[in-house]
Amino acid sequence: MRAALLFALLVLLLPQRQGALARTPAPKSASKAAAHRKPWLFFPIDVRRFDRVSSKYGVRRMKGHKELHRGVDLVAPAGSWVVAAREGRVAEVGHARACGWYVTVEHANAWRTVYCHLRVDPKRMGVTKGLYVPVMGVVGEVGSTGHSTGPHLHFSLLDDRGEARDPLLALYTPAETLRALRGMRLVQ
Ligand SMILES: [Zn+2]
Repeated sequence: MRAALLFALLVLLLPQRQGALARTPAPKSASKAAAHRKPWLFFPIDVRRFDRVSSKYGVRRMKGHKELHRGVDLVAPAGSWVVAAREGRVAEVGHARACGWYVTVEHANAWRTVYCHLRVDPKRMGVTKGLYVPVMGVVGEVGSTGHSTGPHLHFSLLDDRGEARDPLLALYTPAETLRALRGMRLVQ
């Protein structure tokens, strides 16, 4: 329960404190896992409710044919908060056949993060094009809209040319996310 309260407080505190992120060094433990991993994005889902990665980035077989999965699927119960992995500006809010309700956030380095299968139209939550969102700011709720077999967040990372990249190389794990936030003195 205490952790839950801290997380809720954190979400409330962050809008005033997001500048601190730039001064936070990456946790040392991150370099051990994989040398090419360079996390700069926080985990984009309420870490208390995150269950598992159900599908990674890369080529996968679908009904006999191959397709490139241009993101990572993160499973959590419907209604869980989906949060901005880093501060930025909302570049797109819309609905697409495969993605369902989605939000795209553009960051300072011109890379974009995309949040798909959201439960409801994000505009109903006040998330509109041009809106500034702080890191960990809520951009939607986990849902199953579009091509989806159950509640999860499809999270994509696009570089400054619009090419999809493997999000797991850029994401802090849930544990690292909490540790980094503690380093910023946003949680105890
Ligand atoms: Zn997916």
